[in-house]
Amino acid sequence: MKKLINNPNRVVEEMIEGLVAIYPGLARLEGANVLVRADFREARDRQVAVISGGGSGHEPAHAGFVGPGMLSAAVAGQVFTSPSPESVFAAISTAAGAPGALLIVKNYTGDRLNFGLAAEMARVQGIPVEMIIVADDVALASTAEYAGARGIAGTIFVHKIAGAGAAEGKPLAEVAALAEAAAQSVSSMGVSLSSGIVPAVAKPSFTLAENEVELGLGIHGEPGVRRISLRAADRMVEELLEPILSHHPHAARRIALMINNLGSTTVMELAIVARHAIFTLTARGFKVERVYAGTFMSSLEMAGVSLSILRLDDERLRLLGASTLAPAWPVESAQPRTPVSERIVAIPNPPVPPPARHPETGFGEATEHAIESACSALILAEERLTELDRIVGDGDLGLNMTRAARAVKQALPGYPLDDPAATLKALAGTVQQHLGGSSGPLYGILFLRAATALENCEVDAADPWADAAIDACEAVSKLGGAQAGDRTMLDALIPFATTFRMEVGQNHSILQALRAGVEAAETGAEATANLHPHRGRSSYIGNRALGTPDPGAVAVAIWLRAVESSLMRDFND
Ligand code: ADP
Ligand code: MG
Repeated sequence: MKKLINNPNRVVEEMIEGLVAIYPGLARLEGANVLVRADFREARDRQVAVISGGGSGHEPAHAGFVGPGMLSAAVAGQVFTSPSPESVFAAISTAAGAPGALLIVKNYTGDRLNFGLAAEMARVQGIPVEMIIVADDVALASTAEYAGARGIAGTIFVHKIAGAGAAEGKPLAEVAALAEAAAQSVSSMGVSLSSGIVPAVAKPSFTLAENEVELGLGIHGEPGVRRISLRAADRMVEELLEPILSHHPHAARRIALMINNLGSTTVMELAIVARHAIFTLTARGFKVERVYAGTFMSSLEMAGVSLSILRLDDERLRLLGASTLAPAWPVESAQPRTPVSERIVAIPNPPVPPPARHPETGFGEATEHAIESACSALILAEERLTELDRIVGDGDLGLNMTRAARAVKQALPGYPLDDPAATLKALAGTVQQHLGGSSGPLYGILFLRAATALENCEVDAADPWADAAIDACEAVSKLGGAQAGDRTMLDALIPFATTFRMEVGQNHSILQALRAGVEAAETGAEATANLHPHRGRSSYIGNRALGTPDPGAVAVAIWLRAVESSLMRDFND
């Protein structure tokens, strides 16, 4: 067991000290594991005190729900152990004034007894106290030894509604009636993928096989109703919803949904579960008016989720959305919900120039051949690039380059091939979409900047191309922060551009200049084997990269050579 604790027997005390240190709205009672609203002295004369609690290990329940608009006090027992009647009584006598107190208790024998006795002790002192029991877990409803459902995450809904009602100054009987009605209107069901570990026990409460999950498990790690094999999240959601909905009166279409993390479930999994739960409920004709996803009532580090459904009416909806300062109640979900289908937005398409082809110039055809050859050469080189990137990077370059090359080949017939600037823009678009990694944006800017440089130029002349190549290299360097000699693709691109520029300056033909440029790129790429890496993933392995050329630079040399050979074939005869 690995836990960030000091002493397994003092985890509750130290947690409470920590919570008070974190949240200025919380205060603790000395010598008891009780948290109260820091403003309890004013609040208790104004409103009914709403008090809950139970064993610890269910955080953020219950202390996280203490604050104006929700709980007035939370009583914490030891991990998975009911608090003592003295602690509960201490909470009541501190937090409750003349308006009295409502105790919200989850249906466990220990909690009923300890809270029940404390309520009696308070009444003896003349404090009006009501107590309501939450039994939202539908898991055990079908078993023979059904001794009353347990209280689980749906209890948090009851806290919220009672707390909001109390904050409005409603009298005790009314707050209790609201809470009771909410408790009768909520159903929950959970599934566990793995157990939590009680710090003082240091062993998991139960073990499950690798592909096994437990349905209908209590939040203290007590056994569930049945073990089933792990299935896809969507199927699991349906397993949970079915028993919940069989308890649900058919006519009650307005609901709030809670997707509760039982401890160590990732935010990603919660969202995947929420997605299908909302989809299924909506498809079955429910009006899902509020959704709360997050950690509300956990079971230490148990992996798994519970779903809770609360039936809504106008008042309950209003109370759910009323503001609260309780730290663990989500703020943003108080927004009204519009249907998910109305929140799917199409990405605005940039205007695509129509493909203009003038076969008589032969220019478009040569461009098409050149791009086609570059793509084929990269596809042929997949294994080599993968191997190089595996040695000095993460091994994805071959795959990324070939994926992008295939996408370009496919898009090529639609490119405006007679217009080099527009073609480079289209190329940048395809590459950005399909290349990925670090290369994706770098190639994207390479082609985009070249396109910008060539716009409105006489593209039959060599000068604009030479300038475009230099500009494009500068753009890559600026975006990626790498310079010549940093062992990146620039160590092939820059030699190409400068040699090409120089040759053009010496009035050599564009094809001659191209050939010289490509040779310089190849030499540059090979020479990266002797360079110390400063940029990209290779920089993580330092000198161990020495002896292997930079895969990005090698890729540049490969497609440049292919372009050059293709243009030679098309124009040199
Ligand atoms: P990654 O997997 O690291 O995200 P890729 O595998 O797509 O990236 O690309 C790796 C290649 O990208 C490197 O071999 C190098 O040539 C090039 N590269 C990485 N960082 C930069 C940079 N800052 N500037 C220019 N090129 C870079
Ligand atoms: Mg890589």
